[in-house]
Amino acid sequence: MKENLVRLTDVGKVFLTSKVETHALAQVNLQIDGGDFLVIRGASGSGKSTLLSIVGLLDKPSTGLYEYRGVDTARMNLTRRAQLRNREFGFVFQSFNLIEDMSIVENVSMPLKYRSDASRSRRFERAESVMDRVGILPRAEHFPPQLSGGQQQRAALARAIVGNPKLLLADEPTGNLDSDSARVVLDLFAEMHDQGTSVCVVSHDPAIRKYANRELELAEGRLVGS
Ligand code: ADP
Ligand code: MG
Repeated sequence: MKENLVRLTDVGKVFLTSKVETHALAQVNLQIDGGDFLVIRGASGSGKSTLLSIVGLLDKPSTGLYEYRGVDTARMNLTRRAQLRNREFGFVFQSFNLIEDMSIVENVSMPLKYRSDASRSRRFERAESVMDRVGILPRAEHFPPQLSGGQQQRAALARAIVGNPKLLLADEPTGNLDSDSARVVLDLFAEMHDQGTSVCVVSHDPAIRKYANRELELAEGRLVGS
């Protein structure tokens, strides 16, 4: 039987700013199981990034229920949420989100700081092996602003997978890349998936569709499709 990871029930998200109330998500029901490779599409502003932030415990629903592996996330304290973020999820953002004053190998090894008591040299060894896998090892001592967009995305990807996450969450990971760099990213997702990582990716890249076992579309904050 497949393990259920994510279960959203009637999730809504409202953003309140000074004058406007934006309903970013409404009545979202979503289940992600172990082994899933889910692709989410949708127009700009349809709520894709909001949904990923909620699933990745970076943000909370305004209404509805989010259970992660059977536990209501609303009942988790900050420490527990941070533990899950660090130990179970790998994130790839569209804008890379690398820390500019840290070298690439420091960026990539950072998640390991929070999930193991391995020594710094051990963490760097592990980081270097994933950097080698994504072809960014020669840039280990560089800083993010010194790299091209494609190289930064590879580094971000290495950081996302360095801790062997259960669930990889990626927000338009190939949106800023040329087609060669995009293929490296997609191949790596497929490889991670083969090794047991579940994948939830926001993407319009037609090349990713052949890997997906499920595709969903968001339209004005609501999920359509199956
Ligand atoms: P997508 O990723 O599909 O382009 P988003 O999830 O970023 O869409 O945004 C969905 C809607 O929520 C948009 O109308 C956006 O302006 C709004 N929104 C997103 N984040 C915030 C925020 N922090 N504050 C206010 N409104 C937000
Ligand atoms: Mg977005």
